[in-house]
Amino acid sequence: MSVNEQSMRRVTAIRNGTVIDHVPGGMSLTVLKMLGIGGVMSNPVSLLMNVPSKKLVSKDIIKVEDRELNQNELDRLALVAPEASVSIIRAYSVAEKLTINLSDEMVNVARCAFSNCITSNSREPLPHRLLIMGRDPLEIRCHYCGKLQEINDLVERLI
Ligand SMILES: [Zn+2]
Repeated sequence: MSVNEQSMRRVTAIRNGTVIDHVPGGMSLTVLKMLGIGGVMSNPVSLLMNVPSKKLVSKDIIKVEDRELNQNELDRLALVAPEASVSIIRAYSVAEKLTINLSDEMVNVARCAFSNCITSNSREPLPHRLLIMGRDPLEIRCHYCGKLQEINDLVERLI
């Protein structure tokens, strides 16, 4: 077992589930919201917040018990935690490692922030399409109105 695996194992005292590491410090609650986790009926979740990190200034680690996140769910997180690394845990060991992919388009992840956009018209239901125009820095525009979207606004408008 590598040193990396040892430290991973120390952090992950869950039997089965998903561990999301390298979430930017303080963003874990947003990540849970994006995954629809945290309601009364939710799986057990543990959080480690503001852990010192080499890769990030500080990071959060999220452990979700008895739930294996799929790639589709993970890709939603690209908006707030593009550097996150994800481990699927089975019987206390890492069974699979997944990475988050920022695709060129996010469909039905968040709503356009502009009230006069065609997507705000409930009589014309359209999929909410956001285009990723640039990655560093992140530049996201609405497919319909072309307006530049602020990440903070999008986080408030998650679907
Ligand atoms: Zn729009």
